[in-house]
Amino acid sequence: MPHDLPKAYDPTAIEDHWAEYWVRENLFAQPTPDQHDPVNVSARPGGEPFTILLPPPNVTGRLHMGHMLNQTEMDILTRWHRMSDPNHRALWLPGTDHAGIATQMMVERQLVEEGTTRQQLGREAFVERVWEWKRHYGGAILSQMKRLGASVDWQREYFTMDDNLSVAVREAFVRLHEQGLIYRGAYIVNWCPRCQTAISDLEVVYDEHKGHLWEIRYPVIDEAGKDTGQFLTVATTRPETMLGDTAVAIHPEDERYLHLHGKKLRVPLQTTEEGGREIPIVLDEWVSRGFGTGAVKVTPAHDPNDFALGQRHHLPSINVMDDSGHINAEGGAYTGLDRYVARKRIVADLEAQGLLAGIKDHTHNVGHCDRCKTVVEPRLSTQWFIKIQPLADKAIAAVKPDADGKKAINFTPEQYEKTYLNWMENIHDWCISRQLWWGHRIPAWHCATCHKITVARVDPTACAHCGSAEITQETDVLDTWFSSGLLPVSVFGWPNFRARNVGAPGPSHLGTWDEKVDRADFNAFYPTSLLVTGFDILFFWVARMIMLGIWFAQDVPEEDGSPRSLANSVPFREVYIHALVRDANREKMSKTKGNVIDPIEIVKTYGTDAVRFTLASMASPGTDIAFNVARTEGYRAFANKIWNAARFLFMNVDRAAEVDIKVDPAALGGMPTTADDAPLEARWIVAELHATAAKVNEALENYRYDDAANIIYQFFWGSFCDWYLEIAKLRLDFPMDGPAGESASEQASKHDVRLAALTTLVSVFEAALRLLSPFMPFITEEIWHALYDGNPPAKSIALTNYPSESYSGVDRRAIPQMILLQDLIRVTREERKNRDIPEKEVVPMSVITSSNRDFGTNPNELIKQNSEIVQRLAKISTITFYNRGDAGTEDLSWRSIGLTEIALIHEKQIDVPAERDRLTKDIAKYEKIIASAERQLNNPGFTAKAPAHIVEGLKKQLEETKRLLDKTRRDLDDLSNGE
Ligand SMILES: [Zn+2]
Ligand SMILES: [Zn+2]
Repeated sequence: MPHDLPKAYDPTAIEDHWAEYWVRENLFAQPTPDQHDPVNVSARPGGEPFTILLPPPNVTGRLHMGHMLNQTEMDILTRWHRMSDPNHRALWLPGTDHAGIATQMMVERQLVEEGTTRQQLGREAFVERVWEWKRHYGGAILSQMKRLGASVDWQREYFTMDDNLSVAVREAFVRLHEQGLIYRGAYIVNWCPRCQTAISDLEVVYDEHKGHLWEIRYPVIDEAGKDTGQFLTVATTRPETMLGDTAVAIHPEDERYLHLHGKKLRVPLQTTEEGGREIPIVLDEWVSRGFGTGAVKVTPAHDPNDFALGQRHHLPSINVMDDSGHINAEGGAYTGLDRYVARKRIVADLEAQGLLAGIKDHTHNVGHCDRCKTVVEPRLSTQWFIKIQPLADKAIAAVKPDADGKKAINFTPEQYEKTYLNWMENIHDWCISRQLWWGHRIPAWHCATCHKITVARVDPTACAHCGSAEITQETDVLDTWFSSGLLPVSVFGWPNFRARNVGAPGPSHLGTWDEKVDRADFNAFYPTSLLVTGFDILFFWVARMIMLGIWFAQDVPEEDGSPRSLANSVPFREVYIHALVRDANREKMSKTKGNVIDPIEIVKTYGTDAVRFTLASMASPGTDIAFNVARTEGYRAFANKIWNAARFLFMNVDRAAEVDIKVDPAALGGMPTTADDAPLEARWIVAELHATAAKVNEALENYRYDDAANIIYQFFWGSFCDWYLEIAKLRLDFPMDGPAGESASEQASKHDVRLAALTTLVSVFEAALRLLSPFMPFITEEIWHALYDGNPPAKSIALTNYPSESYSGVDRRAIPQMILLQDLIRVTREERKNRDIPEKEVVPMSVITSSNRDFGTNPNELIKQNSEIVQRLAKISTITFYNRGDAGTEDLSWRSIGLTEIALIHEKQIDVPAERDRLTKDIAKYEKIIASAERQLNNPGFTAKAPAHIVEGLKKQLEETKRLLDKTRRDLDDLSNGE
């Protein structure tokens, strides 16, 4: 039946082949259910299909260890669910993200090398250039995924700027605008002067920075605007922003400044206004009396706190910087200077004018752009926002228990639920506009005539308010997370519900489809089952998918037309936040530390299966992984062990075939069972397999990849290879030319025993391959195909059934029975070692049982019935059974093994003629020594002359030799009598 496997296990040789096969054969495609097939749709056999979205990697991305862990976890779960569903429905949906800032930066860098800029190229040409880059290089990370065998549906692969997904983005924007949830306003945003765009709070990273606190004296003026000679000293970390000051604030109860209440100041250095700008002193409880001098300058256009303060006191906002962080026309003499150059110049000028009261060292947190590391400039600008509140309320409700105590979305580990809720309960309106060229351009048009804005699903030709044709589209694009936040609804056809393989026409044919058919994907796959992702994008992505998913899905009726519940509006039912992969010393991997492990390199050395198994064997909720190559080496050896087991098995199958013993293929593919009278090892390995399957399924239910992997490892290596295969050899002694004169019925019964043994062997191995398959998809696919020698019952092991426990045909008592035998054999082996019994020597053994505990059989009986196994595995000749206290058992040395005790009797085997020879020679030698000693001692010349101690020594030697001679003569007599 099976075909030969190469002698050596070589992962590279098999992995490329199967990775390519899985993609070519579209094995993991999950077609749109046929809505007209009542079985497929209404009955939903096996409940909901398992559906999971791949967190779309950036189109600029390269696979790192975090991806590898994330994808291994997703692939294990998807393969497991696919195999566990009788209809093999599981959808893992892949795609890539257009990654606005990252991709634009990448192409901008190329342009710089070519001596040009995006501005020189112009918007249209630049965007085309990015598309070209995407077409050439954008697929790198997905190619890596293909090689790693991720069981995704490649037919559904998307890019966040695909036409259908862009339609969804536009619909979402327009709908939110219609609902009054999108507005445009001036607000303090985090501005990156390098990227020249607003970035979200989440894209700002804070670093501790050793800076200064400059103390500046602001002249106090009287009602006529004349200097009073008094000063109010303020402290600031950014002196250049004083060009935009519109007030100085003090705490109302600060006793140092009570005399200044109601007074005005003049901003030093101001040159645009004659004599400098006059600004009020305002009283605000927000001011911290302990910080600096207790007086703070207020620059509403350049600081979020100042902005809020400015709103409270109705202060004007003066923006003093342009998009690139240079001082604009508001800065008078400083106009055109870079913000840091201006800072130096201003400090010098203040000092020259005697207005610098002091400079103090000051350590504070400075925000940097996450993409380019430039210091972020808080800056007032006009942006588009989502009014987040009604969306956030639903997103909170989805995670909190309902009246029945059920949550629509569950987090694992549970602690992230708190983190999520805490963020969601303190959420601010979301700034969704970015001043980039690469992305979804905001579908809003500004009218030059009436200055109103037209937001539209289809590009307008005239202003919706005044009809003017003088309209221009907004230049901003949407935050990348706006489109990725919509993915759970948009990938299943929202809003147009045109299922992909229904073959519906493009977006211009709106309104022509059969809604029931076109909603098939959404009906079948939304909500998705699970999201597996990292903590770093919990707010960026997970939270936004929950908000946007619920908001738009709630308007899509259920299949039967009834309104959709919150539980069915959420984008996913479960969120699993995976841990970090650290290096072997538990250090975070970083390029600066140089401890980054490239998963592709490790895969090249050890094979994908071993790397996957390493990650799985350490992955459990909330525990970081210390990736150690030594472990991967160990799992490479595990794969090798399985390979060798397969080769041994195939060899036996071939030999059996020669004597016409053939396993019925119908016996494979399910869960093996055993007859009541099957040998112990068969009943045991089958019971172990069922128990193992139960434990693995339970572990995977609970995201305990580590437990699942370790349980399978123990089963395969320990139970199957180390024990079962060794015992099975007893039953498989082919060829079966038995002793001459063996009767036909004896031969037939031998045939049956061997067939049963072979069937158990092959069927348990086949099931174990399926059990292992989600963890090590490549080697299991290779061996499984070899087992069926080109005639497999399915196109892939991934499309067979996952092992699960059943209750009939399984003898669970075989497990404790086998444990007794294993203990017995283990202890016997130890005893043999303790007594230096040569490996190959076969010795007799005595067993005494001290308990009547029922194994279904008495322990002595059990060992008796299976003596063959003990004899073979422990190299035992005969086993004698005693009861505790029997005569002759006192002198033996006993070892307890829980329920029984054993003693070994070791008798050396003797070669009689050789022994007689040896004893005879010894006797002759001793007689010679005695004769010589007696001769000397009887010589008076010797005894008189020799020193006393020599004479004494000789006498002792004589006596000793006589004793030896006597013993040897007796031994020789015994030997002769024994014959
Ligand atoms: Zn930047
Ligand atoms: Zn207009």
